Amino acid sequence: MNPAEVLQRHHLKRTSCREGILDVIMRSDKAMSENEIREKLAGNYDRTTFYRSFKTLEESRILHRIVVDHLNVRYAIDPAVNSNPLHAHFYCEACNEVKCMEMIPVAVPVLPKGYTANETEVIIKGVCHHCQDK
Ligand SMILES: [Zn+2]
Ligand SMILES: [Zn+2]
Repeated sequence: MNPAEVLQRHHLKRTSCREGILDVIMRSDKAMSENEIREKLAGNYDRTTFYRSFKTLEESRILHRIVVDHLNVRYAIDPAVNSNPLHAHFYCEACNEVKCMEMIPVAVPVLPKGYTANETEVIIKGVCHHCQDK
């Protein structure tokens, strides 16, 4: 799927900024921070345009947010665009990268009555295979 098709599937208008953001994320094999995405974006968009496009993609669940800690928030293309929506993430403490682990599904927890979940996160912290070899 290309960025235009992803937008179309989510009934979103095609804009160059939205397509640009998707293009950057879909080319990356790791989750990226908002700044990293912004830096790699080809076109020159003002802060507001970028921010709005970004929010739209997140709210439409095309992008998913991974919160490692409050200083460390990454985004990746939502695998729901592909297959398994809820999966674990791996955070490498050596190189600071976050990767989607689509092969590790996360079970939806059954909550006691009166509780509603907005997000379920499983973050595995450790050392990735690149850093292991060093
Ligand atoms: Zn690493
Ligand atoms: Zn992910």
